[in-house]
Amino acid sequence: MTDTVLIVDALSAGSGQRTSSRDSIGCGPRTIAGVFELCDIPCGIRRVEDVLYKKGTTRGFTHLAISAMSMDFPVVEQVIKMWNRTRPQGRILLGGPISGEPQRMVSLLRPDVLIIGEGEATLEDLISSDYLDSSIDLSMIQGIAFKKRKDVVVTSRRPAISEEKLSDYYKPSTFRVMDYSGYQASRVYVEVVRGCSNFQRTKIRLPDGRECYDCGSCDSVDPTMRLDCPEDIPPGCGFCSVPATWGSPRSRSEDAIVSEIETLLDLDVHRIVLEAPGFLDYKRGSYPLTTPCSPPANIDAISNLLSRINSIPQMKDGIAHLSVENIKACLFSEPVAKMFSDMLPSISPNIGMETGSEHHARTIGKCSTPQEVLQAVSLAKKFGLNPFVYLIYGLPGENILTVKESVDMVKKLADLSVERIILYGFRPLPGSAFADFDPPTHDDPISQELKQAVSRVNRERKYAYLGRKVKAIAAEASLTHQGYTMFYPLKEGPLITALGGYSPGTLVDIEIEEVLSDGLVRGTVIK
Ligand code: SF4
Repeated sequence: MTDTVLIVDALSAGSGQRTSSRDSIGCGPRTIAGVFELCDIPCGIRRVEDVLYKKGTTRGFTHLAISAMSMDFPVVEQVIKMWNRTRPQGRILLGGPISGEPQRMVSLLRPDVLIIGEGEATLEDLISSDYLDSSIDLSMIQGIAFKKRKDVVVTSRRPAISEEKLSDYYKPSTFRVMDYSGYQASRVYVEVVRGCSNFQRTKIRLPDGRECYDCGSCDSVDPTMRLDCPEDIPPGCGFCSVPATWGSPRSRSEDAIVSEIETLLDLDVHRIVLEAPGFLDYKRGSYPLTTPCSPPANIDAISNLLSRINSIPQMKDGIAHLSVENIKACLFSEPVAKMFSDMLPSISPNIGMETGSEHHARTIGKCSTPQEVLQAVSLAKKFGLNPFVYLIYGLPGENILTVKESVDMVKKLADLSVERIILYGFRPLPGSAFADFDPPTHDDPISQELKQAVSRVNRERKYAYLGRKVKAIAAEASLTHQGYTMFYPLKEGPLITALGGYSPGTLVDIEIEEVLSDGLVRGTVIK
């Protein structure tokens, strides 16, 4: 039987069903599909919910490749058990951020192979070694972990893929985007930058005793000095594993990005998000770039990229929308704000603040201060943008004082009419400096006041939409209200529910009439 690979997108599914960001299609599974296409191996992508709950979804596939995060452990376990019951012969490959804890994941989930970190070259190596159809000596393959008798073997780290290969050789699949139901209305992520330039580190003492003793490397002007820490503290914000897993930034070429977007738009995709841990790291300096706030953003390179994308017919005709997300406040200068305002008016740059306390921000390894975030929000508003700000509760080092400072910051952000504050609970991510800290309990008393303050601000912001007419795109039938359809504004804005049955991808104009929650409004389709 011809090898056919089922790629399971389990990202953010957690224990079974994605509750937030239901409209996002990450670039990970399409990247993996691109390697199978490169090797002429037929493949298909399915959401994990469909694999688990829709009969016959796995029919015709001989091998399994799962893309997941550590929070998705429960669904990954279910899928592997289900697959082993129905197709014990086929290979089970597992990869994505879940690979940050190789020993534990291989012992507990028992995939045939866990692909650690960056997957393209490792997967190509496995395929060209004929691993899908025959037994090979896996210890010869870099960048994997596998079970050998009672032990888990972790092979040596694979060198990072060059920018040239990331642009000209490994190309994410475009056609497989059509495997996602409702893809026409989804935010489809297109990778622009891989890795992050924040090679500062936390100053908080870690549970195993590692602690910064200020050797000076993190402040060195020599970018290579910042790569390693004598205390072996992972680089970056303590809660984040990006620099440790993906290294310093590598940018894809303008041609690669533009041609991928052109094909996606021709396939009836309407919402493109330029994916980067820090979008302003795009072509911002030579490799390795380990200084998060200098040199300044490469405005020429970014402008060239955005103007080429904006000149694609679907963008010009306004039936497709382009946005960027992650922005470092310390790089968000007036020229940058003006560039976005000219080329991507009304977008919502996402700016990480995490805590309102200057001291706490420094100790967790943040490269931008809360004050710089406040300035960035004010600048963004001045240029007509709609910034989002991220905050985290339950972080190591949090206390009553830092929470109070965060609540004060929420008030200041509200005064600046911040578009939305995204508050989430600290999660100890494998591969991050804070991997061994405990997450907060859901009803953790210390952060209740912060949660209420954020919910209040987000709900109040929704009232600004009442009476507005927005162009929106139909996504899926409402899961809670019979006869209603869920819509996403083509540009930025809240999730909308409206009466009527519309097929995914239908473009309509909606008048917003009611605020239902701090994340949902109701409207009426007017055209
Ligand atoms: S390299 Fe490590 S010990 Fe040195 S300053 Fe940075 S975190 Fe501290």
